[in-house]
Amino acid sequence: MKLTRKRVLVTGGAGFLGSHLCEHLLRDGDDVLCVDNYFTGRKDNIAHLIANPHFEAMRHDVTFPLYVEVDEIYNLACPASPVHYQFDPVQTTKTSVIGAINMLGLAKRIGAKILQASTSEVYGDPTVHPQTEDYRGNVNPLGPRACYDEGKRCAETLFFDYLRQHRVKIKVARIFNTYGPRMHPNDGRVVSNFIMQALRGEDITLYGDGSQTRAFCYVDDLIDGLVRLMATGDAIIGPMNIGNPREIAVRELAERIIRMTGSSSRIVKLPLPPDDPAQRCPDIGLAQAQLGWQPHVALEDGLRRTIAYFRAMVAEQGGAAAMQPATA
Ligand code: NAD
Ligand code: UDP
Repeated sequence: MKLTRKRVLVTGGAGFLGSHLCEHLLRDGDDVLCVDNYFTGRKDNIAHLIANPHFEAMRHDVTFPLYVEVDEIYNLACPASPVHYQFDPVQTTKTSVIGAINMLGLAKRIGAKILQASTSEVYGDPTVHPQTEDYRGNVNPLGPRACYDEGKRCAETLFFDYLRQHRVKIKVARIFNTYGPRMHPNDGRVVSNFIMQALRGEDITLYGDGSQTRAFCYVDDLIDGLVRLMATGDAIIGPMNIGNPREIAVRELAERIIRMTGSSSRIVKLPLPPDDPAQRCPDIGLAQAQLGWQPHVALEDGLRRTIAYFRAMVAEQGGAAAMQPATA
């Protein structure tokens, strides 16, 4: 047991990634303050942590200032699924930009280290493949994804300005598509959508022809990368890609999930949303060199665990739970 516990603030701590991060930090012996406005996060995600005396949950919106005393801040607050961040785009930009200013101001006042959960979306629809950190991106500043993409880009700018102007200790992680248990079943992201549709025997909604690619990282690997980045010395600041470099076409993902769930669902094609990136895959050379990090969970294993999570949820809801167990 540690004699002195680190006090760690996780904004967005009741969300998908945030709840796994809180759990990981508690396991490491830290004192965790989870701040969330529950826009896309759920109390269910952190219910199992509430009884822990080293965990505290606070309802708060990061677009308002926060006065707490901590040693480290992970700034994750922001809806991440296109459906959710496009629901109230002005609030999405406010959360990214004003939220970053408030959390950086807090870090500056109390001398805390702060890590930003940035995103591969800063590369937009990339023309460089795989994406390296020095690629400046191809974002449409006027499109429906811009509230998120430009908000996150501006947040990165703020992080580097607080470093240069105020010497705040920053870390910027560019997170690529991550999946796993506790994704919101209705958040519209591809892995949760396809698994829920397959388990319920509904049509699998493939946007476009499914040739667009993504590279999917299992949540445990991702959290390990974030925690390693936070633990580095002041010279390592990022931006740093954290993701799994195994690229897969969305159609192939759909077929794999149908196979693994034993579903009778059909694939139906729907129009591709505007500005949907055609190709995305991280170059993780920097994370490998500076963190000694790389993902370990294979897509098949991660999907199996995620399917099991959603299957239990569907069974609890009394839906099409009679579906046969996974075959793969
Ligand atoms: P999520 O939607 O599950 O979690 C976001 C959390 O932030 C939710 O709990 C939500 O209620 C909270 N939140 C939103 N606005 C807030 C506000 N104004 N004040 C306080 N809390 C607020 O999404 P996630 O997948 O867990 O993503 C977490 C972070 O990681 C986000 O910043 C996201 O941009 C980034 N990220 C995630 C992925 C991914 O694939 N999961 C990829 C790239 C970047
Ligand atoms: N997608 C799809 N069907 C769905 C949801 C998503 O074909 O029901 C596609 C989407 O068009 C994109 C990819 O899957 O090409 C990943 O989408 P997601 O919303 O998970 O994340 P993104 O990487 O686009 O932010």
